[in-house]
Amino acid sequence: MNDAVSWREAPEAHYAVIGNPVGHSRSPLIHAAAYREFGMDYRYVALTVPVGKVGEAMAHLLERGYRGVNVTVPHKEEALAWVPSADAFARKVNAVNTIDLFNGHGINTDGLGFVKTIEEIDGEVLVLGAGGSARSIVGALSEAGRTVRVWNRTSSRAVELSRHWRRVTAEPEIRVDQAAIIVNATSSTLANSDLDISWESADPTAVAYDLMYGEEESAFLREAREAGHRTIDGREMLAAQGALAFEYWLGEFPLEIMRRALGL
Ligand code: NAP
Repeated sequence: MNDAVSWREAPEAHYAVIGNPVGHSRSPLIHAAAYREFGMDYRYVALTVPVGKVGEAMAHLLERGYRGVNVTVPHKEEALAWVPSADAFARKVNAVNTIDLFNGHGINTDGLGFVKTIEEIDGEVLVLGAGGSARSIVGALSEAGRTVRVWNRTSSRAVELSRHWRRVTAEPEIRVDQAAIIVNATSSTLANSDLDISWESADPTAVAYDLMYGEEESAFLREAREAGHRTIDGREMLAAQGALAFEYWLGEFPLEIMRRALGL
């Protein structure tokens, strides 16, 4: 847990992650590790912002001298609506997770961050989910030339998502047999997986990747590990999207520093 406070009590600092809830975020930890390593005298804090208050919070942070903001659940769409300008990818996936407060420009480092973490693994990617994170990673995978299949509990959302990108198809059922990587981009519960996956039909070399991270292993990863699969949790994506945000603001790409700070 970090020391998240309300945006109205934003302390003297330079960068922040805003969300609701945001007390679990490890972004302050990874950014602080990078400042230390580069000898930069900056401070990064976690701020709670209620839904509908992103604009007011941004104006306040700007006034307080903040330089940049990361945006997490549930504000990525609201942040896009607030920013005066955003890059084409962020607009297409309807989500901004990184803002430069000097010029008000918003970008999305989630999708590209995810793609960087699987560069070494060739083959088809099966994405479970069609929410905000799934939209970012599916879009970035498609732009990187990867073949993607998407399954979602509400199948119409998977179909809709697949229409926007090349080499992306929607699946009515979870079929893991073709996949090199199976990504859980749903918010299904930590303790009991609601995802009906027959791991025994997957290729033994298939990798299970959960965007979620926390103190405990998710049910999705536990089941995959017990079936003999290599597993990756959301810390890899957190580090990669954080390093890209850091690079955007400060010109350095501290991926290894951030991975180490997360125990990777
Ligand atoms: P979101 O927009 O709310 O989307 C939730 C998705 O989960 C939807 O596709 C929803 O399906 C599905 N879902 C919810 N409960 C389910 C269940 N019980 N069984 C099957 N599917 C279920 O959420 P999000 O922002 O995309 O976040 C998804 C996950 O990614 C979260 O765990 C979040 O913590 C994680 N995340 C990690 C990082 C990182 O850096 N590591 C970054 C961003 C997000 P329906 O469409 O049917 O409702």
